[in-house]
Amino acid sequence: MSDDKLRIGISQCLLGDEVRFDGGHKRNRFVVNSLSEYATYVPVCPEVEVGMPTPREAIRLVGSSQSPQLLGVQSAEDHTDAMTAWSEQKMPWLVDQDLDGYIFKKDSPSCGLFRVRVYDAESGIPSRDGRGLYASSVVERFPLLPAEEEGRLNDAPLRENFIARLFIYRRWKRFLSEDRSPAGLVAFHTAHKMAFLAHSPVHYRELGPIVSQAGSDDFDRQVAQYAETMTRCVQVLATPGKHTNVLMHLMGFIKNELDGHDKAELLDLIEQMRKRILPLIVPITLLKHHLSRCDTPDWVEKQAYLNPYPGELMLRNHV
Ligand code: SF4
Repeated sequence: MSDDKLRIGISQCLLGDEVRFDGGHKRNRFVVNSLSEYATYVPVCPEVEVGMPTPREAIRLVGSSQSPQLLGVQSAEDHTDAMTAWSEQKMPWLVDQDLDGYIFKKDSPSCGLFRVRVYDAESGIPSRDGRGLYASSVVERFPLLPAEEEGRLNDAPLRENFIARLFIYRRWKRFLSEDRSPAGLVAFHTAHKMAFLAHSPVHYRELGPIVSQAGSDDFDRQVAQYAETMTRCVQVLATPGKHTNVLMHLMGFIKNELDGHDKAELLDLIEQMRKRILPLIVPITLLKHHLSRCDTPDWVEKQAYLNPYPGELMLRNHV
């Protein structure tokens, strides 16, 4: 796996490095203990790299959530221009890192991705609708890059969704670098049909026509349109109901080869997964067994949905 590891940008304090304003860290167990086997991390601490000492004065966002200032909590020293300029200078370096995703530290005025506190300049009352200055620069520069906060990775469905997105995005980059052609796009789409259907049937239906016209028009525009639609598609959480739809769909390809007992058994497991009594891994494992022994169409057996990421991560083992 070592040559094939994901490359993930990450807020440096999440790796256990003592770079926080108080001299501490925010080591994340899943990141350090589990995901690290499949990922090479590219750590960045914007506050240290912009030249702030450790320990240092705490900073916060002040003003409007659209264009907040980054100020010292006590001194009101303004770090906005320095952080903005440094972030812009950092972007070419990040391009060179060829990242597959990014994990940010929540709540940080530099790294926070969602619902960061922005304090009203007059009242001092915070609203939770901001984004860290560095995180803003990253998602603006890399709108297709899977990005998530470490706090949300404690939620099993959000974690599963993020990891699935990392691997889909990496395969997308491979398509771009190794087989960027109409045929390559068809192959990529074919392999991911069931994965996309599990995330968002609406976007899945939008992707089909883009692929069917691949090569008939401006291919660059089609690739960009596909990438943007795919990104919105996989940002939608897969649910037990949508998994049920996909599993039934896959079962349909072999239903004539299953006997009554096998069918009833598989349907029962799918139903228990839909009711959140059993984890997804249970019906999928049985379905994969039947797909491998039946006369299954090749493209069905090769669906990324069936093997979206290393099974050892055990991301489908929750209900
Ligand atoms: S949240 Fe970001 S800026 Fe703050 S210590 Fe961690 S890496 Fe550095």
